Amino acid sequence: MTGCTDTPVLKERGQHEVFCGLTGIIWLHRKMQDAFFLVVGSRTCAHLLQSAAGVMIFAEPRFGTAILEEGDLAGLKDANEELDREVARLLERRPDIRQLFLVGSCPSEVIKLDLARAAERLSAEHAPNVRVLNYSGSGIETTFTQGEDACLAAMVPGLAATDAETLLLVGALPDVVEDQARDLLAAMGITSVQVLPGRRAAADPTVGPNTRYALLQPFLGDTAAALDARGATRIPAPFPFGEEGTTLWLRAVADAFGVDDATFARATDAPRARARKAVAAVAGTLRDKRVFFLPDSQLELPLARFLTRECGMQAVEVGTPFLHAQIMADELALLAEGPRIAEGQDVEKQLDRVRADRPDLTVCGLGLANPLEREGLTTKWAIELVFTPVHFYEQAGDLASLFARPIRRKALLAAGRG
Ligand code: SF4
Repeated sequence: MTGCTDTPVLKERGQHEVFCGLTGIIWLHRKMQDAFFLVVGSRTCAHLLQSAAGVMIFAEPRFGTAILEEGDLAGLKDANEELDREVARLLERRPDIRQLFLVGSCPSEVIKLDLARAAERLSAEHAPNVRVLNYSGSGIETTFTQGEDACLAAMVPGLAATDAETLLLVGALPDVVEDQARDLLAAMGITSVQVLPGRRAAADPTVGPNTRYALLQPFLGDTAAALDARGATRIPAPFPFGEEGTTLWLRAVADAFGVDDATFARATDAPRARARKAVAAVAGTLRDKRVFFLPDSQLELPLARFLTRECGMQAVEVGTPFLHAQIMADELALLAEGPRIAEGQDVEKQLDRVRADRPDLTVCGLGLANPLEREGLTTKWAIELVFTPVHFYEQAGDLASLFARPIRRKALLAAGRG
């Protein structure tokens, strides 16, 4: 089966309309319970974080912004000294913090603040209680899911070495979904399972030449490269979205660990049937509807595969910010020929194609959704897909519902007007 493997990719470079990598902090800080994310940035960065996190109420938030003032930006003050002071104050106030991420931003990059050096210096100062790491969440030429990739990739070189044969799951999923994955794997007899990132610093995985890893998210290309550099081996697979994606992902892991067919069937038959039923209950709304993905979350190809193969939708265009040929190979092979595949963003040209195609559903960023809705198009915010549990069997029906809801709402509104 080759599907879209040989489909020519339309490469676009132009104006971007996406959130920056700082956005990842919102889900990463929930996952890593003793980590703190200190954005070294401007008031704009602080506002972005506050508004993105605005729906949540914290007693003690685990992210903040060290604001670079005008004096820093003009090179008049020593930003490093201020950063050291800020970090010392923070760690004194928050002795529960075990991992501190200095998160670079557009302003810190503009003034060429060397956060790698700062992290090294601060790590030495605050060891062994706190490990200080750095990564960039800057918005220049990036998209919002790259923040997680950059964060996890930054963690890999510091992971302890091992020769043990283990399975490493890579990607920050909600705990309840991660537990479901562990249960499925345990039912197949795979119990030596670690996760990057760990829920706490002490639970961070070990890595070595006998580590086989399976990506949970398609946007973790840099993390995969860092794990490869540590001698680990990736288990190629489609992503665990929907019944089919989950089964193929589990099958790939099972094959890597020598699980026989009968054991696999015993572990997966019941949840598979549940997932199929849940998707079927929603698919009626989606069948034969045309979907257009603007490049945003990097989940576009696996989701297009799910919506076309399991829900009967037709993909018109599947745009993705970056297309990692190896990581996406299985997804491209499964996606039936037909849609345009586009990589990168040139927003005006893409919007022209949306207007010409008039799809039934456009999956896009927040900033584009309102104007498209005003033009009578139905939209789905891509960012919801990273804030909502959507992986594995038990979430397959919810995943289909996320796309069905706006279509149903539009139909109700139309009926109300009629
Ligand atoms: Fe804006 Fe850059 Fe700060 Fe992101 S990192 S909020 S794009 S200034």
